[in-house]
Amino acid sequence: MKYALVTGGSRGIGRAACVKLAKMGYNILINYRSNNEAAEETRRLVEAEGKTAVLMQFDVADGQAVKEVLATWMETNKETMSIEVLVNNAGIRKDNLFMWMEEEDWNEVLDVNLKGFYYSTKLVFKHMLLKRYGRIINVVSLSGIKGMAGQLNYAASKAAVIGATKSLAQEVGRSKITVNAVAPGFIKTDMTADINEKEFKSRIPLRRFGKVEEVAAVIGFLASEDASYVTGEVISVNGGLYT
Ligand code: NAP
Repeated sequence: MKYALVTGGSRGIGRAACVKLAKMGYNILINYRSNNEAAEETRRLVEAEGKTAVLMQFDVADGQAVKEVLATWMETNKETMSIEVLVNNAGIRKDNLFMWMEEEDWNEVLDVNLKGFYYSTKLVFKHMLLKRYGRIINVVSLSGIKGMAGQLNYAASKAAVIGATKSLAQEVGRSKITVNAVAPGFIKTDMTADINEKEFKSRIPLRRFGKVEEVAAVIGFLASEDASYVTGEVISVNGGLYT
């Protein structure tokens, strides 16, 4: 059975990615941290596409938990499954001007957004190397490309994942594994619920926030055969908002 693993698949962009990949024929491993109800809803949406959904609750920043849940599942199902797609989407922000940014908020954002990339990718890419096929898609951010006042921790974590994306693409290309990133701008999710669209939209050439499905469409493209010669890239989905 062919699987796609989506971290942070319970809500927002991750949920839309789960549905998109299910529509493309993948069974889905839905990772999430704590929101059981939201994860169950994603499961329902994946199953409505006729695909199998497996809920995987673990904190992507906790290496031990990733091993206990993901590595155990992979070992138990190794004869019958193949994880072809990994979407590293789980992420958080804890914004503050650098002047006021506490070490705790710096560490937490780096742990989830950057170490979270490390643990899941480390496990899954080894499996992909053996299968000699894989698509790794990292959800980064416009902040990681251009920087953003009040988001040093977040921008640093996303810029680091962009560097990791480009480097890993160069290491694993010969094994037919592609590694790319998608960089959303302002997308309507719980993460941006505190940002006033009316106030910000005049700065966006397309004059609106994006929809999760618009990000999932690009994730779907990068996971597809159509993207077989695209690797080490960062594709922006931001309505034209650059600088
Ligand atoms: P969201 O609506 O806040 O959802 C976050 C998802 O990540 C949830 O499924 C959450 O699980 C999961 N999650 C958070 N911390 C986790 C952890 N430590 N371990 C496992 N899962 C964890 O966020 P979103 O807006 O969809 O953002 C998704 C990704 O896109 C993030 O990487 C974010 O940085 C990036 N992004 C978003 C925007 C935007 O405008 N929304 C812009 C640029 C980039 P629970 O449901 O269990 O809490």
